Amino acid sequence: MSKQSPMDNTENNVKSETIEDIIDACCYSKPKPPEDTLCAACNRPIKGMIVQALGKTWHQEHFCCSHCKKPISGQRFNVEENKPYCEHDYSQLFLKRCQGCNLPILDVVVVALNCNWHYDHFVCATCGTRLAQQGYYERENNPFCKTCYEERFCPKCKECLKPIKETAIMALGEKWHQDCFKCSRCFVPITEATFEVYNGKQLCDKCITQISKAEMIASGEGISTNKTLPLDSSLIPEMSSAIEKKA
Ligand SMILES: [Zn+2]
Ligand SMILES: [Zn+2]
Ligand SMILES: [Zn+2]
Ligand SMILES: [Zn+2]
Ligand SMILES: [Zn+2]
Ligand SMILES: [Zn+2]
Repeated sequence: MSKQSPMDNTENNVKSETIEDIIDACCYSKPKPPEDTLCAACNRPIKGMIVQALGKTWHQEHFCCSHCKKPISGQRFNVEENKPYCEHDYSQLFLKRCQGCNLPILDVVVVALNCNWHYDHFVCATCGTRLAQQGYYERENNPFCKTCYEERFCPKCKECLKPIKETAIMALGEKWHQDCFKCSRCFVPITEATFEVYNGKQLCDKCITQISKAEMIASGEGISTNKTLPLDSSLIPEMSSAIEKKA
C-alpha cells in the first residue's frame, strides 16, 4: 500500500523543475531590477560571465557560432550579416579559396588569371618565383615569370639559340637577333634590308665583291639577293600584373 506524504509530493515537484524554473519562481516573476543584464539568446538574466558582442550581451554558453551552433570560446570570432561565426566556419563559408592550394585565404588575396591566390602561392609555373609583386606572363592559364616565359615561349635565335625578346629579323626562313645575323665570311652583322646569298649563306656587300667569277663558276652557285624582314616584339604578350586585396 503506497502512501505519499505531503513531504514526498513536494520533493517530486521540485525534482521535475529545472533550475531556470526555480529562478523564474523565485525572482524572475518579480519586477525586473534595472541592473539585470539579459542574454540576447535566451532572454534570461546573466549572473556570471557576460559576453559583450555585436552590441548585445550574452551568456558565455549562449554566444554561439551561427553555423555549428557551438559556443564561441576565446576572443576571436567573425561576423557576416550581423551574425557571429567561429573562425573555422567563417573561413570555410565566406573566405575566398586559393587556386593553388584550395584553402581559404585569411590575409592578402592575390587576384590574377581570374582566380584568387595566397600571396605565396601565386608563383611561376616553371621556377616557383613569387609573382604577386613583379607581374607575370600568361600562357594556357598558367603564370610565368619573365625569364621562364622567354625561355619557354619566345622564338630562339638561329645563331645564338637564345630567346628573342626584342625586335629581331627574319632572314633565310629563320629568326635572328639583329646582331646575330652576320656575314658568313667576315662575321660582321648584316644591317642592310637586303643581302646577297651565295652557297646558301649570307654575305655582306664587301665580301660579295671578293668572290671571283672563277670561284663562282667552280662552285656552280650563283649569287641571289635576299631580304631581311623585321620581326617585331608583338610575339611577346604584354606583361600582366596581379591585384592584391584584403581577404
Ligand atoms: Zn542565455
Ligand atoms: Zn562554427
Ligand atoms: Zn594557397
Ligand atoms: Zn620562372
Ligand atoms: Zn642571337
Ligand atoms: Zn662579310
